[in-house]
Amino acid sequence: MLNVTDSKGISLYIDDEPFSLPEVSLQLYQRTLDMQAGTLDRQVLLETSSGKRVLIESQRLVSFEHRHLAAFSYQVTILNAAAPVVISSEITGAQKNQAGIEDPRQAKGFDKEVLVPQGHVCDQQRLFLGHQTHNSGMTLACGIDHQFKTECPYEWHAECSENEGRVEFRVDAKPGQPIQLIKFAAYHTSPSAPAKKLFTRARWTLDRAKKDGFKTLLESQRRYMDNFWQHSDVKIDANSEEKQTETGEFQQALRWNLFQILQASARAEGTSIPAKGLMGQTYEGHYFWDTEIYVLPFITYSNPRIARNLLRFRHSMLDIARQRARELNQKGALFPWRTINGEEASANYVAGTAQYHINADIMYALRKYVEVTDDKSLLFNEGVEMLVETARFWFDIGFFSKRNGCQFCIHGVTGPDEYTTVVNNNTFTNLMARENLRYAAQTVSEMEQHHPEHFATLVHRTKLQMSEVADWKEAAERMYIPFDQNLDINPQDDNFLEREVWDIKATPRDHFPLLLSYHPLVIYRHQVIKQADVVLAMFLLGKDFSKEQKKHNFDYYDPLTTGDSSLSACIQAIIAAEIDDMEKAVKYARYAVLMDLADIGGNVKVGCHIASMGGCMDGCGIRLCRNA
Ligand code: BGC
Repeated sequence: MLNVTDSKGISLYIDDEPFSLPEVSLQLYQRTLDMQAGTLDRQVLLETSSGKRVLIESQRLVSFEHRHLAAFSYQVTILNAAAPVVISSEITGAQKNQAGIEDPRQAKGFDKEVLVPQGHVCDQQRLFLGHQTHNSGMTLACGIDHQFKTECPYEWHAECSENEGRVEFRVDAKPGQPIQLIKFAAYHTSPSAPAKKLFTRARWTLDRAKKDGFKTLLESQRRYMDNFWQHSDVKIDANSEEKQTETGEFQQALRWNLFQILQASARAEGTSIPAKGLMGQTYEGHYFWDTEIYVLPFITYSNPRIARNLLRFRHSMLDIARQRARELNQKGALFPWRTINGEEASANYVAGTAQYHINADIMYALRKYVEVTDDKSLLFNEGVEMLVETARFWFDIGFFSKRNGCQFCIHGVTGPDEYTTVVNNNTFTNLMARENLRYAAQTVSEMEQHHPEHFATLVHRTKLQMSEVADWKEAAERMYIPFDQNLDINPQDDNFLEREVWDIKATPRDHFPLLLSYHPLVIYRHQVIKQADVVLAMFLLGKDFSKEQKKHNFDYYDPLTTGDSSLSACIQAIIAAEIDDMEKAVKYARYAVLMDLADIGGNVKVGCHIASMGGCMDGCGIRLCRNA
C-alpha cells in the first residue's frame, strides 16, 4: 500500500512570512474529529509577533458518498489589522513510504521510485498530477480545484510540474474580512488505463463537486453518518450514577473505534480491510485473518453489503489459492496468510503460511454472514466453491492416526499464537477445521437435495464427488481435540505442555513485545503465548465448551499470555466476562478499547489496530441484532 499524491497541503503566509505554530502566540487551538458530521475541524486564534490577531477555521472531509472526492474549507480572518496574506494550495507527488528495518511488522520499503510521473496539467485553478506504479503499471490521477471567496482585493497564480503544483491566492486582507478557500480533490485509479485518461474522470468529479458546493457535501456526509450510527452504534448502560462519567468516556472511546472501522471498511469494494486500515503502512497494507475473524462479524450485522463484498473479494482470489495449495503439494485451496493481491506475501513461513487456519477463518465468516443475512445466493454461487476447496484441503493435510485411535489429526501447523509454531494438533485449528468440514458437507448435501441446478454447476466447476463429502463428514466426526486429564484443560497443541514455562513476571517490561527482544527459537521452546489461541476458540465456538471448561482453560492460559498482539485483549475480555471474572474482563476491555487512543502498544503512529477495534464490539458483551 503506497502513499499517493498529497492534496491536503494549504500554506498560509502573513506579511510574506510562513505561518508556523511554534513562532506565534496561540490564544486558542482546537482540533475536533466530529464523528457525527464526518469532518475534521480546526479553529486557531493566534497573534503574530507584529501583533496581528488571526483566526483560522478549517474543516475537511473525505466523502463517504462520493467515492473519488475529498474537500477542504479553509478560512482566514485578520481580526485587527490590514495585512498581505498569501494562501497557497498545494498538490505534491513523490511521497515517501514508511519503512522499518528493525521492526519486522513494518513495511520493508522500496529501493526505487514506485510512482513514476505520467503527466501534469495546469488549467486555471485546476491542477492534475498523473502517476503509474513502476512494476504493476497501475495508474493514478489526482486533481485539485478551488473556489475562493472574499470581499478583499486579490489575485491568483498557478503553476505545476511533474511532482508538485500550487495555486497561490494573494490577498490584501482588510481587518475583520473573512477570506475563504474551498479546495476539492479528486482521486482516480485504474489497473491499466493511462493516467491521462483518468484526468478526464477527475475533471467530471471536480465539475460536479464545484457545482454542488462544499455545503451540499457536508450535508451528504452527515446523512451518511446518521445512517451509519443508526445501524452501527454500540451503547453502554451505566449501572450506577457514579459510574456515568467513566462510562461516558468509555462510550466515546468505543465510538471512536467504530468510526475507525467505518473509515477502514466503507470503501472495501474489490479490496479487503488491511490490518492497519488505511491509517499507516505497517504490514504494507496487507490483509490477514484480522478481517474475517475480528471485523467481518460486526460488519455482517451493521453493513451486510460490505460483508458480502469482503467475502466475494476472497472468492475472487480462489484460483490463486488453488495454485498455492499445489505449490504446497496439497489438494483444494489454501488462502494466503498475508496478501494484497491473492498471492502469499508472508516472509516467514513458520508464523505465516503455516497458519492454515486462515482457510477455516474465512469459512467461519462466511457461515456467520449467511446465518445472519440468509444470503443463499452468495453461499450457493461463491461460498460453496470456497467451502469445497477448503474442505478438500483439510482432508488432504490431515490423516486418521493409528497411534491416536484412528482419530483425524492435523500435523505441522501454526495456530493463532505466533509464539508457538509448526505443531501437531493445534486445538484451535482442529476445532475450526472441523467446523469448516461440517459446513462444507452440510451445504453440499443441502444443494444436492434442494437446489439441483446450483449443485450441477458446482459439480461442473469443482469436479466434486459425493464420496468426498462422506470423507469430510467422517474427518469432522473423528477430529482429534487435545485434552489433558490431569490439568483438565485443552492443551494448545500436542506438545505445548512439555515446554518450559516462560517467567513473564520476571521479564523486564521493556523486553515486551518479546518478538523484538528474543530470537524466535528461544520463544518457541517455551510456554508463552502471544495472543489468545485456545481462548479464542472458546469465543468463536463457545457451544463446544462448558462454562467450567472455559474457566479451566482460561485460568491456565491467561498467566501465560503476554498480549504482545493487539488481537488478544478483546478476546480475553469476553471470555473473562463469560466465566464471571469481571475484574479481568474490565481490565482487558479497557486495554482493547483504548488500544489506539491511549497507545497501549506504543505504535499507534504507524497505524490503528483494526482487529482489536472489531473485537471490541463483541468485547463489550453486547450482542447485536441486525437493524437494531
Ligand atoms: C498477529 C496476527 C495478526 C497480524 C496482523 C500479528 O502480530 O500475531 O494474528 O494477523 O499481527 O494484525
